Amino acid sequence: MSAQFAPLTSCDVLIVGGGSAGIATAASLLRRRPDLDVRIVEPSEHHYYQPGWTMVGAGVFTPQRTQRRTEDLIPRGAQWVRGSVAAFDPDHDRVELTDGRWMGYRMLVAAPGLKLDWAAIPGLAETLGRNNVTSNYGYQTAPYTWDLVQATRRGRAIFTQPPMPIKCAGAPQKAMYLSADYWRARGRDDIQIEFHNAGPVLFGVKEYVPALMKYVQKYRIDLNFGSKLVAVDGPARTADFAVTGPHGETRQERRAFDFLHVCPPQTAPDFIRHSPLAAESGWIEVDDATLRHKRFENIFGLGDGCSTPNAKTAAAARKQAPVVAENILSLLDGLPMRAVYDGYGSCPLTVERGKIVLAEFGYGGKLLPSFPKWLLDGTQPTRLAWHLKAQALPEIYWLGMLRGREWLAGPDYVEPAPQLHRAQA
Ligand code: FAD
Repeated sequence: MSAQFAPLTSCDVLIVGGGSAGIATAASLLRRRPDLDVRIVEPSEHHYYQPGWTMVGAGVFTPQRTQRRTEDLIPRGAQWVRGSVAAFDPDHDRVELTDGRWMGYRMLVAAPGLKLDWAAIPGLAETLGRNNVTSNYGYQTAPYTWDLVQATRRGRAIFTQPPMPIKCAGAPQKAMYLSADYWRARGRDDIQIEFHNAGPVLFGVKEYVPALMKYVQKYRIDLNFGSKLVAVDGPARTADFAVTGPHGETRQERRAFDFLHVCPPQTAPDFIRHSPLAAESGWIEVDDATLRHKRFENIFGLGDGCSTPNAKTAAAARKQAPVVAENILSLLDGLPMRAVYDGYGSCPLTVERGKIVLAEFGYGGKLLPSFPKWLLDGTQPTRLAWHLKAQALPEIYWLGMLRGREWLAGPDYVEPAPQLHRAQA
């Protein structure tokens, strides 16, 4: 039987990806309309709370605290399709799975996350998790960061950041500050710390930079901008960088290391980049406000895989999911879309064990704090923000966001605001 005539199952809403964004969208849809036929295509048996990996790398969380079974997180009323999407056929409202199945839909939500491109750096994949080379960007390797931090007593510790966009742009320096804090507290002054950032600034929103610079000075960190990791030799303990000078000229530099924390280059997943859904950049081409695809009316995109210029964070997905849910239900009802996303994203910068600079901002770097300044000033390191990350946010994630409880995340509306689809409390 040719694929053309393979059996086709169809549903109201098909969600590609059961990560942070996909599960949250399913939950927000079903809170509003419990009888909707929602299916989630997701290959992984496990779901990860990735924001917790920074804490794993610092010995604050156990890895197990960041992992749950996908089965236990699928919202009641949704169906889990165990598999991977291989291709999109938006002209016929269907997708093809890698096992040859076809699935049809009335509305499609693309939430596939992004690709960590370890292979783009020669030598990295072979040595990751060994030879003092680690990364908080993986469930398997974040615990190795903590092992190495404890074991390192002297020498050169290098932390790298690739070109933007990356998920949680602050994560490479979070790993650095927490490691530095540990070493400083134990008087390990013979460790020289270097930050190699392919970009030109410490953090993209200038209001947070002064507080971060104080920690850079306190930990005596050597900042290197325009310095991109291009190769790693684990057994020889060397890392190669392409360094761009002030006039755009590039030179190669080799640095010996005793500790290397790598944040890998990141792109849209291959099956997205090579699909009709992709913009020229490779990301899913959606409208910044409504999150609807720019060319396909019954397709939405959210999370790390989409083209919106916000900080790629779970905090962003938390605000995006209700917008997508609202707009999908409006379209299914033949009504105009009214929910809009303001670009909110959040990056809790762990500057020391016990204190965080809580960056919260939207499109164009506009500050969007969740709390009044007298309670929590996000531009300053605070203990309250640490408690938020260490205690409250994981619960808000598991019990709120993934269950369609939109705490501090209800959508904004273009006027007049409809009362039709608000989530039930
Ligand atoms: P993901 O959660 O990655 O989910 C994508 C899903 O799509 C996966 O389950 C995957 O299996 C599935 N998938 C992939 N391919 C296919 C396919 N072919 N077919 C079907 N499904 C597929 N965010 C914050 O808000 N705060 C933080 O402090 C923070 N810190 C971070 C620290 C680190 C070290 C890291 C790595 C991330 C951090 N983040 C943070 C970012 C946050 O985890 C992501 O932005 C968020 O998980 C994005 O959600 P998503 O659903 O788009 O992608």
